[in-house]
Amino acid sequence: MTRGDRNLHRQLLLLLKELHLPMFREYYAALANQALQEGMSYSRYLYELAQKEWEVRRAHKIERLVKTSNLPLEKTLSTFDLKRLPLKLRQQVMILLEGDFVQRRENILAFGQPGSGKTHLLCAIGHELVRQGRRIYFTSCDLMVQELLRAKRDLELDKRLKKYARFEAIMIDDFGYVKQEREEMEVLFTLLAHRYERGSLLITSNLPFSKWEMIFKDPMTTAAAIDRLVHHSVILELNVPSYRAEEANKRKKGSAE
Ligand code: ADP
Ligand code: MG
Repeated sequence: MTRGDRNLHRQLLLLLKELHLPMFREYYAALANQALQEGMSYSRYLYELAQKEWEVRRAHKIERLVKTSNLPLEKTLSTFDLKRLPLKLRQQVMILLEGDFVQRRENILAFGQPGSGKTHLLCAIGHELVRQGRRIYFTSCDLMVQELLRAKRDLELDKRLKKYARFEAIMIDDFGYVKQEREEMEVLFTLLAHRYERGSLLITSNLPFSKWEMIFKDPMTTAAAIDRLVHHSVILELNVPSYRAEEANKRKKGSAE
C-alpha cells in the first residue's frame, strides 16, 4: 500500500463513520480486493456493500421491535404445534401469518377454553408481524385497563391513546378479565372506540360474545363494543382440548408403561 493509499483509507474510514455506514467501514477494503480478483463490476461491488449495510440495519430494527413489542419471547411459531389445529383453522392461520390483515386494519379474535393455545397462537402471529418489520404491542387486558385508568386519573388518557395508536397491531390477552367496576369497562370501551378502523387488535378471550355483558354491564354498550370489534375481523374458534392437560396425560401414560 502506498502512502497515498493509506491516507485515502484513513480518510474514507472517517467519512464512513460520519455517514453511519459501519458495514461499509468493515467490509469495503476486503470486498475491494475480492472485486479486483473476480472482476466484479463497480455496480455489483456497491450493491454487495449496500446489501450488508441493509441486512444489519434490518436486524437491529427487528431486535428493537421485538423489545418494544413486549411479546413473550418463547411463544413463537417454531414452538407452536400447528398440527393440533383443525385443517380449516390452520388454513386461516396461514393466511393471517402473511400479515395483510394489518394493512386492512382488521382484528383477530381468538376464542376457546383455557389452555387451548389462544395466547400462544396470537403471540406467534405477533412475532411473524414483527419479523415483517411491523410495530406490535402485547399486553394483558388487566394491565391495559390499569394503565388506562392511571392515565385517565392523570388527565393523560388522550396522550396514552395516541401512544397506542402508533402501533399497527395491539394484542390484548385475556379480554374480559377485569374487575367489576364501571370505570374499568369505560376505559376499555374508550380504547375499542379509539382503535376502531385505526389499527388492528388481536384479542384472546375465554368468554364467548354471549357472556360479554359480564364485561360491559349493559346490553347497549356490550352490543356497541362487539359491533366495533367484529366489523372488520377474523374470528378463530380454538375448539381443541387443553394443551397442558393433554401433555400431562401423555406423561402419565408414559410413566405407566
Ligand atoms: P390459552 O391462552 O388458550 O389459555 P395458552 O396459549 O396459554 O392457552 O397455552 C397453554 C400452554 O400450552 C402454553 O404453555 C402454550 O405454550 C402451550 N400450547 C398450547 N397450544 C400449543 C400448541 N399447539 N403447540 C405448542 N404449545 C402449545
Ligand atoms: Mg391465554
